[in-house]
Order: sequence, then C-alpha cells, then structure tokens
Amino acid sequence: MTRKPIMAGNWKMNIDHIEATGLVEKLHYTLVDKEWDPKKTDAVLIPPFTDLRTVRTLIDGDRLNFQLGAQNVSEHDNGAYTGEISTSMLTKLGVTYVVVGHSERRQYFGETDEIINAKAAKALSAGITPIICVGEGLDIRKEGTHVEYTLNQVRGTLANLTAEQVAGLVIAYEPVWAIGTGEVATPEDAQEVCGAIRQEVAALYDEATAESVRIQYGGSVKSGNVAQIMAQPDVDGCLVGGASLQPDEFAAIVRFYQLPA
Ligand code: PEP
Repeated sequence: MTRKPIMAGNWKMNIDHIEATGLVEKLHYTLVDKEWDPKKTDAVLIPPFTDLRTVRTLIDGDRLNFQLGAQNVSEHDNGAYTGEISTSMLTKLGVTYVVVGHSERRQYFGETDEIINAKAAKALSAGITPIICVGEGLDIRKEGTHVEYTLNQVRGTLANLTAEQVAGLVIAYEPVWAIGTGEVATPEDAQEVCGAIRQEVAALYDEATAESVRIQYGGSVKSGNVAQIMAQPDVDGCLVGGASLQPDEFAAIVRFYQLPA
C-alpha cells in the first residue's frame, strides 16, 4: 500500500491573522510557479486559533490546495473551560487536522499521555485527524533508551483507540532535542524510531493498520534535509516548525519529491 506523504506546517505562536494572508498567498503562488502536484503531497497549514477563520476564507475563496489544522483542542465538549477550544468549534471552521501532545504542550502545559489520548479520541469522534506527537528529550537520547521511551508514549496516547481509528491518524516522531535547535536527527535516526513505531502499531493492532498509519518526522526539517529524511521507508511526512514560516522553504518541503535525495 502507498501512504500519501503529509507535510504539516506548525506556525506555533507566530503570525497574526493579517500576516497570515501574505504567508498563505506567497506559499500558494510559489507552489503554483514550481508546478506542485497536490496529488503527491498533503499540505496542512496549522496556524494559531485566531488565524483559522482568515486562512479558511483564503482556502475556500481562492480554492487553494491546503488543508487546515489546529495546534491544540480541548478534551471536553463545551462548558466552563475558560480559554479552551472545542472540536465542534474547529469543525465549523473546516479544520481537518489537530496536533495533540506537541512537546511544548507536554513541557509547558503539563500534558500527559492520558490527556493527549483523550484529546485524540475527542478529535476522532468529531471527524478530525489527530497528529499525535511523541519523542524523547536529550537526556533519554544520551541514555540510549529513546526507542522504548517513545514506544511507551505511543502505547499511552493510542490507548483504547480502535484499529480503524489508528489506521487513519498521524503519529509525529519529534525528538525534542532536534526541535527548533537546528540539530537535525540523521535520516537513520528518524528511520530507527519511525520503523519501531510502525512495528509497535502492528503488534498492538495488525499489519494492515501499521501499513496504513502515517508517521511523520519533526525536528529542524528544511529544504536541505527533507529529501533524505523522506527517502526513509517508514517516514511518511514531516511536521515542520520554523521552516513553515518561510514560504520558499515550506514550498520546497511540500515538493520534496522534486529535490535530489
Ligand atoms: C516543531 O515544533 O514541531 C518543530 C519540528 O519545529 P522545528 O521544525 O522548528 O524544529
């Protein structure tokens, strides 16, 4: 089976809704110029909540081939949860992906595997595809226990999800020491853990589910290293932070298949 590559740009807390218009248009025109074929890659834009409406309007108005993602979602349906955003608010804006468990949410907002699992389940029940983030910090990498550590996060965040749900979601392996540091994992490092994640999904569910789930690598991905990373058999896409704010860079990442590996 062939898995469609998925490149997702996480803008984090950058770019307001006015700046978003310029970024999305520049990205679109760069991709059109370079003859990007949207059948070859899913391109997901993940702006801050306050930009979602603007980006949605641009996508619909100009028929852009981008999908819309959110950076977080509440595990609750509605009610007295000040500052939270529900799945139904996101679906009304045509949001089809949501990042759950980004390492910054784990580190600064105390999100545990249990909370992330609840958010993933809530997203799935609303028809939104979760991008579930896992990955080890530098201390774990130095200890050499990064594979087992990451697989433990995979088991925790997928708990009680069905094979059908897991087959359709995205798991992003992001070694925390490579995020925003310029320190990129080697393609072999990325393959080691992404391959182990796929094997774990096969063990937890079955081969068909493992063959279907899409696994991304994230951590200082740029136009200069994306082709080598994407050449790995178990890497199906990238979750991109810094480089997604630069239209030329993100356009090249989306067109990775045209770059020399
Ligand atoms: C991220 O935050 O998910 C990320 C991968 O960031 P960067 O690409 O900047 O390392």
